Amino acid sequence: MGLSSLEETVPVSKLPVIALVGRPNVGKSTLYNRLTGTRDALVSDLPGLTRDRRTGEATLGGHAITLIDTAGLEEAKRDSIAARMRQQSEQAIADADLVLFVLDARDGVTAADEVFARQVRQSGKPVILVANKAEGRAADAGFFEAFQLGLGDPVAISAEHGEGMSGLESDVLAAVGLKAKSRAKRPRRGEEAPVVEPEPLEDAPRRSIRVAVVGRPNAGKSTLVNTLIGEDRMIVGPEAGLTRDSIATDIDWDGQPIKLFDTAGLRRKARIDDKAEKLAASDAVRAIRFAEVVVLLLDAERAFEHQDLTIGSLAIDEGRALVIAVNKWDLVEDKQKKLAELHRLLGLTLAQVPGVAMITISAQSGKGIDKLRKAVLDAQRIWNTRVSTSKLNQWLDEALQRHTPPAARGRRIRIRFMTQVSARPPTFVAFCSQPQGLPKSYVQYLTNSLRDAFDLPGTPIRFNLRKGDNPYADKR
Ligand code: GDP
Repeated sequence: MGLSSLEETVPVSKLPVIALVGRPNVGKSTLYNRLTGTRDALVSDLPGLTRDRRTGEATLGGHAITLIDTAGLEEAKRDSIAARMRQQSEQAIADADLVLFVLDARDGVTAADEVFARQVRQSGKPVILVANKAEGRAADAGFFEAFQLGLGDPVAISAEHGEGMSGLESDVLAAVGLKAKSRAKRPRRGEEAPVVEPEPLEDAPRRSIRVAVVGRPNAGKSTLVNTLIGEDRMIVGPEAGLTRDSIATDIDWDGQPIKLFDTAGLRRKARIDDKAEKLAASDAVRAIRFAEVVVLLLDAERAFEHQDLTIGSLAIDEGRALVIAVNKWDLVEDKQKKLAELHRLLGLTLAQVPGVAMITISAQSGKGIDKLRKAVLDAQRIWNTRVSTSKLNQWLDEALQRHTPPAARGRRIRIRFMTQVSARPPTFVAFCSQPQGLPKSYVQYLTNSLRDAFDLPGTPIRFNLRKGDNPYADKR
């Protein structure tokens, strides 16, 4: 396929046609590959051979769709790029039933994004705004900016890391009027377009949940990790983790694959005793960044001391789902008294995450491990919660009525609209008349009320204020 592909038309097909549109380098190709399951990289390493667009098939929720990618233009010669790109995306939009408008959440909204967004708006085609590269906090600002494009609620994904894909898939299906199929049936939508797709969604392997056990030296991390691995008869085997000197092990909890991060193992190998504490801290950072769910392991006899709190706060700041495991419970004599004391300390120290699960265990004997597993899965589920915009705003109205926001600079602060911009952890943005004027205590009130109303115990919640009104109010 060469330059002539500009003239090529999309093959006649009864499948819904979805076009990926956006300026160069926002990750359209990666998303295309992710959705179609191809590794068919662009032919950029063959000089002079530019693909203006690819079309391929993907299976979303058991339905076949046709996907058009305009990413090939990224490799086009500089002088010709602007005009051809416009022409190209115009054609793709015209052929599409639905447009996925992709932007780079780390870059925010650029002038080039605005040009393409205008094109999409003028087409009148249904569109889903995709904020790509949304892994990590660097992307937060970009999300909020994305609202100003007037293309609706941005959907946060990381095409590269495969995050947010199931949410995007269900949005796409809904937009083209399809429902995810519950059973593995091969889609039949026209005989001339037989579907040769690998696995329907339901048969795809379940995604692993990444779990790390952190805590200060001697809390019993190695013991716990060994118990978790040792009890499991379906170990896939240790494999190299994210970094050279760390280890992740694949285990299986009743059909749910888990990647368990084991830093404790390395330290046994390293044995640099005088640096043990320092090493432990950097291990914890690494483990926390790796994990979706962090198990903070405490020694029952020395719980909630300084180092525990440092590590726990770090996990919360990084936005991870947290579970507290109190180890060596077998050594505790007055268990009831101890438990009351621990709950009191927990409330005093890790107040950012009220309702966080605290499980007493004996890593050595395996007592309490089942409860711990359940708590980890629950924490992960809560961390993935998405609240619909309408429910959120219903709640907001009530919360504002119960306690009216204060005034600042002589004018009452108004909060007019709120939406959840991402999950993992749940992240909300509220549009507010004077964001700087709103006291922290009021934001705290809203966060707590939100946590209660939507049953989000123990998970970090990000609550961002942004100046402005309902971004949809003046949407075309
Ligand atoms: P790590 O430094 O956090 O990896 O801690 P280890 O797993 O090496 O455990 C430190 C010590 O605590 C070892 O002597 C373990 O045998 C002991 N230990 C771990 N878990 C338990 C437990 O549940 N009960 C008791 N009594 N001792 C434990």
